[in-house]
Amino acid sequence: MSSFHKNIEKIKQLVIIAGGKGTRLGLTDIPKPMVKIKNEPILEHQINLAKKYGIEEVFILSGHMSDVIKKYFKDGQDFGIKIHHIIEPYPLGTAGCLKLAEPFLDEKFLLFYGDIVMDFDIKNFVKFNADYKDIIGSIVVHPNDHPYDSDLVEIDEQGLVRKFISKPHPSGRYYQNLVNAAVYLFSKKIFKYIENNKFQDFGKDILPEVVKQEERLAGYKSAEYIKDMGTADRFEKVKTDFESGKVVSLNRQNKRPCIFLDRDGVINFNMDSSPNVEDFKLIPGVVEGVRKINQSGFLAIVATNQPMIAKGFLTFDELSKIHKKMETMLGEERAYLDGIYFCPHHPERGFAGEIEELKVECNCRKPKSGMLLQAQTDFNIDLARSWMVGDSERDIIAGQNAGCKTILITTGKNNYNADYCAENLKEAVDIILNEEGGTI
Ligand SMILES: [Mg+2]
Ligand SMILES: [Zn+2]
Repeated sequence: MSSFHKNIEKIKQLVIIAGGKGTRLGLTDIPKPMVKIKNEPILEHQINLAKKYGIEEVFILSGHMSDVIKKYFKDGQDFGIKIHHIIEPYPLGTAGCLKLAEPFLDEKFLLFYGDIVMDFDIKNFVKFNADYKDIIGSIVVHPNDHPYDSDLVEIDEQGLVRKFISKPHPSGRYYQNLVNAAVYLFSKKIFKYIENNKFQDFGKDILPEVVKQEERLAGYKSAEYIKDMGTADRFEKVKTDFESGKVVSLNRQNKRPCIFLDRDGVINFNMDSSPNVEDFKLIPGVVEGVRKINQSGFLAIVATNQPMIAKGFLTFDELSKIHKKMETMLGEERAYLDGIYFCPHHPERGFAGEIEELKVECNCRKPKSGMLLQAQTDFNIDLARSWMVGDSERDIIAGQNAGCKTILITTGKNNYNADYCAENLKEAVDIILNEEGGTI
């Protein structure tokens, strides 16, 4: 649960790395961040977003065709914000060029890449970062629908980044489906890792080194719209999403509905009393079901009781491996989960290897709705428009307790008063989308 916050310090500065050429977009007369969507350059959309959240000063770091950027934004007066231009003398990479701004920056600042179309709740990101002590910064991470050919990030249960995993990924490896969204909040400690006048890249050079040196870097999981538009195909996609209002609507400030999923018996076949990675197998239709959720506007979030941990039959580490396998198998088929919540507790004592501190009456073990409520806080979920899909009475009651509609996965009868029954997840998702009128 979140701790008590003092006054969250205000972040007043934003740095935008705007050196992109846009060669793959076929641009010849403007640099990539000046590409227009709805009559405004992407850079301007970013600046407007920052302004909305109280940013007072923007540093645009450019190189390629910097004159075009400078001429458009000038000192920012026409845009109601202070804008400074810093021009790199030769390509320095995303981190190398940031070094040029060091003398002008406050203790903490935001950093965007100029070729990303985004709308996200900056205030919540700042609040998240403020919850950690002695931290070098936070990066936004999110799942994507092609993790198998993406550079991945691994975070631990505390939300700290443990590893950066570059592609290509060896086959047979399991990983979390999280990628770096290229939105950062840094303290000036980051400059310890960046050299003067040297080509350095955040993703490839700086962040992996920061984690290797055991700096505390947090990963902020977001389900908001943050996408780069590096290729012509991707540009068309983000343009359509922007024009349709999708980009804005996914900002965390707007409540979103969720489909909560029990795990065992809904996503994977039930395992025996000592579950292990090898025995984890997806139920047919799950991939299609999750993919449909991803395309619908509902969040897909797992909430699973794992009392085997308290009983001593499963370690946290083994559970994490099982979840990596789940995310990898889904990811291979372009399906993903927005979050995974588990309850490791169990109230009754009497198992040989049990873990004393987990044998408690907690608020997260279903039929209580603690996991759903935690997810609601994290993602700003609209519980009244959300659904719980599960195969046991505990799941149905947990969903009802949280004010969600419910679907029981069964080949038998609706014994627990769920709103609907379905034979598998795919059928359940069809029922939901039919009920809610398809996409949101
Ligand atoms: Mg179950
Ligand atoms: Zn619990």
